[in-house]
Amino acid sequence: MRQIFTKQVRKWAKVGGISTPQSFSTWCPHCSEKVTFTCANHLHDAKRACVTSSANCPGCSHHVGVWSLGAHGPESAEVYIHPSNGEPREPRNVSDSISEPLYRSYTSTVDAYNSGNYVATAVCCRRTLEGLFQGLLPEGKRVSNLAKAISDVADSVDLAEPIRNLANVLRHGGNLGAHFDMEKEPDEAMALQMLTLLENLIEFLHVLPREISALEQHLDRES
Ligand SMILES: [Zn+2]
Repeated sequence: MRQIFTKQVRKWAKVGGISTPQSFSTWCPHCSEKVTFTCANHLHDAKRACVTSSANCPGCSHHVGVWSLGAHGPESAEVYIHPSNGEPREPRNVSDSISEPLYRSYTSTVDAYNSGNYVATAVCCRRTLEGLFQGLLPEGKRVSNLAKAISDVADSVDLAEPIRNLANVLRHGGNLGAHFDMEKEPDEAMALQMLTLLENLIEFLHVLPREISALEQHLDRES
């Protein structure tokens, strides 16, 4: 099952008091094209408080099943389709960590990929990478060459600083240090913060170096 979000619904219908899409736009699970599905044969299942319907892809004609669960208005509707393959890549939730233009450039890259436009994906990817590395350099020191920008960042920005800060904080106690104190009972927010920190460290220390070397090996084999 893949969830269809309310912003993807073009038109709503109401069956047995439940809001269900009359039409919605998404990637077809069969042919991966972005299309608008029109729903037909609505069936109200009162016991399960849901409406099921059928839709066919206007591109490849294959059938998609639609389930709308227990909602009394489009705002709270929960809609799912089956099968769920052809799922688009969701952008990562990094809007708080990077500038707004950079985040827009990143989501455009994901959109280009999801629409199957790989040339545009590569162009957007490069543009976002440039923005990412330029943004780490001081105003007067920005260069247009991507490789140069990356090596300037490596030379001038202390990329190991967060790791050193973490070590210092753990050494000297304080709020973050208290998180790692086994005597202290963590609440949900504290547990989530620790888990997020752990996942980010795994990405930074292990996933990123491994992926860069895997990408290099893959490109070496192709050339
Ligand atoms: Zn299709």
